[in-house]
Amino acid sequence: MSSVFWFRRDVRLDDNPGLNAAAAEGEVIPLFVIDPGLYEKVSTRRRALLVAGLADIDSRIRDGGGRLRVENGAPAEVVPRVAAETDTGRVHIAGEVTPYGLERDRLVAETVDLVDHDGTYTHPTGSMLTSDGNGYRVFTPFHRAWSQIEVIAAELSNDVVFSDQPGSPLPGVDGSPLPAGPSGAEERLRKFLERVDDYHSKRDRIDGDNTSHLSVDLKYGWIGPRRLIAEVGTGTEGRAAFVRQLAWRDFYGDLLAREPDLVTTSFDTTYRNMEWRTSSGDLEAWKTGQTGYPIVDAAMRRLVAEGMMHNRARLLVASFLVKDLLIDWRFGETFFRHHLIDADVAQNAANWQWVAGTGTDAAPYFRVFNPIIQARRFDPSGSFIRTWVPELAAVPDEWIHAPWEAGPLELLGHGVELGRDYPHPIVDHAMARRRAIAFYEEARASR
Ligand code: FAD
Repeated sequence: MSSVFWFRRDVRLDDNPGLNAAAAEGEVIPLFVIDPGLYEKVSTRRRALLVAGLADIDSRIRDGGGRLRVENGAPAEVVPRVAAETDTGRVHIAGEVTPYGLERDRLVAETVDLVDHDGTYTHPTGSMLTSDGNGYRVFTPFHRAWSQIEVIAAELSNDVVFSDQPGSPLPGVDGSPLPAGPSGAEERLRKFLERVDDYHSKRDRIDGDNTSHLSVDLKYGWIGPRRLIAEVGTGTEGRAAFVRQLAWRDFYGDLLAREPDLVTTSFDTTYRNMEWRTSSGDLEAWKTGQTGYPIVDAAMRRLVAEGMMHNRARLLVASFLVKDLLIDWRFGETFFRHHLIDADVAQNAANWQWVAGTGTDAAPYFRVFNPIIQARRFDPSGSFIRTWVPELAAVPDEWIHAPWEAGPLELLGHGVELGRDYPHPIVDHAMARRRAIAFYEEARASR
């Protein structure tokens, strides 16, 4: 007997219940569909990552005598055609939570026996329910319940037989920004395990290398969350703190599954009718790293150059856009989704809504991150700023986080004239903070 396993966000052989189910039925056609509806919309960097990850899984499948079957086209046309080649006609998948993915799967399921499995998140989507049978809206009780469920990573049985029918060649896109596929994930995990025990105390430092960098692996599914939890464990404070972050990922995946409008609509109805500022100049300054706030500019320039950003920096730049500039969080969400290599519909939208205070269990509306205080705490010597805002490289530590606080002559002594070499701040943070609180209070008063 034979069936199809259709890889999507779970490009891995282990900890993959759907693949195990397909293997239990006999020969498996390991399928990946390059869907123009997704592929043509993403950056070249993300295409290169995807292709490199597929090459990696293909080489693993070839080690076992099979090969990855790559097909180009709309899944609703391609998947039934491949399924027709099997004698069960069945296609196994790991379930989706994004609106696009759900609709795609609905269309495929019209003509194919599509069998949904878990594996993208730690516990099956929709299985985490409060005592009154609803999904969770608050993270702490979600985490409490989540932690009590045993986590077992599914091993792939050794005798799986993959088919070796050729499909299309992989697109020729070079330039993956990092080692991709399960091999890249294993390398990142191995390195992270050397520093995981300090994770809780160092994870917020923007200037260090203290986090796992595994978000990209979780996005493509090069490693599964259950395997990660099994390998890391919760034996030290650092390990427990890391596993807790994985629960946030699950919380937001669970939320998107229930709230498909999360990407387009403020979750909290209080804030749905706010009249955000429209300033193309300010938005452009934010996007290009020209706001005059060195930590914001450094983080935004890195995002555009490398597709990466530290979590603390994401919080700061998002707060700056929404609260200091009063620009609609959806502009930031879209920009991040385009540039981040770990862009994930659920994580990105829910985190933007968290910062904007419009989400479920979000930051309180009056919390406005101070980009200077935060920079001094999490990049104290300014080394991250100096890397990405080289025009400030010679400015001493004392002024690096807020160069306008130095006198013009003092700054000139270090080669910087504000307005010529580096912008004046586009907004005064103290004023912006008061303005943001008043803006949110107005929305609250008229609810
Ligand atoms: P680590 O600190 O090593 O964390 C381990 C894992 O836990 C991460 O890989 C991630 O899967 C999960 N995690 C950590 N923090 C969060 C969080 N706040 N919310 C949900 N899961 C978390 N993460 C994405 O994966 N994709 C996104 O598109 C995304 N957009 C974001 C947008 C904003 C405005 C903010 C504030 C955060 C966003 N995050 C997103 C969450 C977080 O910033 C990244 O997961 C993290 O920076 C990735 O680096 P890491 O793997 O080294 O994280």
